[in-house]
Amino acid sequence: MATNDRELGRIGHSALAAADSSASGRKSPVGKAVPGTDEVCPNRFDSPLSLARIRELARIAADSAPFECCGLVLPDGLRRCRNVANRRLRKTSFAFSAADAVFLAENATNGEILAIYHSHPASPADWSVRDERDAWFGGHPLYSRVARIIVGCRSGIPYEVAAYGFVADGWRQIWRVSVSEP
Ligand SMILES: [Zn+2]
Repeated sequence: MATNDRELGRIGHSALAAADSSASGRKSPVGKAVPGTDEVCPNRFDSPLSLARIRELARIAADSAPFECCGLVLPDGLRRCRNVANRRLRKTSFAFSAADAVFLAENATNGEILAIYHSHPASPADWSVRDERDAWFGGHPLYSRVARIIVGCRSGIPYEVAAYGFVADGWRQIWRVSVSEP
């Protein structure tokens, strides 16, 4: 199957996840995962990031408003990525460039990527229908060892950050913190 750069750039978001067109497909055998398997988010995500890192994420979200920001949380810093989604869609979705998508795919299981982050420029850091859809592929959790971090904003002003991880049989909130203005 031919894959152009535009499609590749959407790995980790809509396009790949859209391949799992059946919403019920996520009730897959993967749900039987037990602690210690690759399907479970590492324990290090149980506690919030450092305050400095949270503030950095909030600043990036504020800078990107009214569009969604996106990037990767690495063990020693952030990899800030460009949201290459169509401008019309960028307020409510994000897509990685081909280079970022490849980096994500190559490092999603080796501990080099702790989380994928993005912002909700005009809504809380809740796990959205789109976030759920994009976190599955072919009935399996997509990059299940990589947490998802969402910066929630009111009118582009960040006020909370939440992290979600794949636990047992689904994506669940693992922490949520309030942030003051960056
Ligand atoms: Zn989202």
